[in-house]
Amino acid sequence: MKFFASDDWKCPKCGTENYIADSVNEIVPNKTVRELEEENIDVPFECDNCGYKEVILVGYNEEKDRFVVDYFGTKLFRNCKKEREQILKDANLL
Ligand SMILES: [Zn+2]
Repeated sequence: MKFFASDDWKCPKCGTENYIADSVNEIVPNKTVRELEEENIDVPFECDNCGYKEVILVGYNEEKDRFVVDYFGTKLFRNCKKEREQILKDANLL
């Protein structure tokens, strides 16, 4: 199976650059090619440094042949506390 490269994710709380490629590659095999091409995928992750929990949205970028972090989409989830809590619960992070 192909291993997909991924951007690191910069924790919004402490600024640490977290290596998320392993987490991305755990999720990718469960997705169809169409899903990978057309949709962002959710990557539940906990910051290695401070423990900040986030469901990171990443999308496959064909040009770069790697997953890139959709900070804008991820940030939307953070803005509403109630929605953020629900998303973390659904991802088994809470
Ligand atoms: Zn952090």
